[in-house]
Amino acid sequence: MSNYKLTIYNSLTRMKEEFVPLNAPHVGMYVCGPTVYGDGHLGHARPAITFDILFRYLTHMGYKVRYVRNITDVGHLEHDADEGEDKIGKKARLEQKEPMEIVQYYTTRYHKAMEKLNVLPPSIEPHASGHIIEQIEFVQKILDAGYAYISNGSVYFDVPKYAKKFKYGQMSGRNIDDVLANTRDLDGQDEKHNSVDFALWKKAQPEHIMHWPSPWSEGFPGWHLECSTMSTKYLGEEFDIHGGGMDLLFPHHECEIAQSTAALGHESVHYWMHNNMITINGKKMGKSYNNFITLDEFFNGTHPLLTQPYSPMTIRFFILQAHYRGTVDFGNEALQAAEKGFERLSDTYNRLQKLKPSAQSSVDVSGLRDKCEEAMCDDLNTPVVISLLFDAAKSINLVADGKATISQADLDELKDVFKVFLEDVLGLTFDSNSSSSSNAAYKGAVDLLLELRKQAKANKDWATSDLIRDKLAALGFSVKDTKDGFEWSL
Ligand code: ZN
Repeated sequence: MSNYKLTIYNSLTRMKEEFVPLNAPHVGMYVCGPTVYGDGHLGHARPAITFDILFRYLTHMGYKVRYVRNITDVGHLEHDADEGEDKIGKKARLEQKEPMEIVQYYTTRYHKAMEKLNVLPPSIEPHASGHIIEQIEFVQKILDAGYAYISNGSVYFDVPKYAKKFKYGQMSGRNIDDVLANTRDLDGQDEKHNSVDFALWKKAQPEHIMHWPSPWSEGFPGWHLECSTMSTKYLGEEFDIHGGGMDLLFPHHECEIAQSTAALGHESVHYWMHNNMITINGKKMGKSYNNFITLDEFFNGTHPLLTQPYSPMTIRFFILQAHYRGTVDFGNEALQAAEKGFERLSDTYNRLQKLKPSAQSSVDVSGLRDKCEEAMCDDLNTPVVISLLFDAAKSINLVADGKATISQADLDELKDVFKVFLEDVLGLTFDSNSSSSSNAAYKGAVDLLLELRKQAKANKDWATSDLIRDKLAALGFSVKDTKDGFEWSL
């Protein structure tokens, strides 16, 4: 187990706190996953990457982490309130498909995008639709405790009654009057006793495709309920960390706290963590701004706002260059800068593998590991880790250029620190295609072959000249002789 002490910012207390797990070395961690009715976009990438870093770092520290990230496949309504059509049901209706076909299709695509971003799969990925029985039981517990009521076949959480006994709105800093003042009158509100109340179970309208039997009606669970239910099922009545995007803090997470506290008599979560949001060219991402870019569009460069494709590792590196609680603004210039930065780091990492040790070191690599650990322990400060590795890159380049020396022990240490922090903790991958140094090597090799062909021609060695041209053509290269020499493309 690591000797370093991890501190994390707890949204509940709004302070940085030392992380003390309930049952070390075990850590339970729950993160709200995607609603699978469309392709993943940057908004999905950021929490996935943020909590992937936490998952990786806790594992690196020696903890045994059970990481639960759910798939929302029912109950997420159009207006994010208790009204509107189910997002997946609507897509299924429009495309004349079974809702689970929509869920399967987009879940597979989400997994593929996450794999490209090198986001590790969670330990358990429960679906809301697979936990209807547990959700019904959870609603019953809240009813039994007296904090919910049945109205016309639906069940609602009684927020004012709950707020009399427990703190409501503590995490988001809202009190019930603020919420009341900001709650719009919505259709169906006549069913609710108070506009702040929220649905635990909704009676399905005839056009609603997904519905299940329950003691109250043929219907479906409210959106907030699945997370309280599934976190309790897989992590217990009390667990360590709950994460998600800042947009979920209110009302989703505030409702989760209320549900769990009402059902269990106490709060479940010890540390609440939230990643900040992403903007595109300074604007919130959304269909109305026409800046809703999916991850695949980033990888292929096919969205009109993009001047080029960006590799998954460029996206990951770009996100990690900012602290998770800071905002990130995506724009072509910033992404191009991240691409260059990642290439530089990648080149340095390649050079590091080829360094030859000397008897003595003239560079100082001591303290790098400690500083990287301390940065990660300071609320996952990935931008500081990246800048520390860039600093160390200067020493690597000096040694590679013959301007400094490094001992075997120091070289081993440096290689290990780079491997641990770049690959294991930050989760960056360095395949040969994305590395500019290997691109340069490949271009250099083709140039060299064509240079040899030019010499062969000058020596009237037609056999060699033709051999090089024909073999390159067979590999898919097209070669053009020009006035000054040659041009080639693949
Ligand atoms: Zn959730």
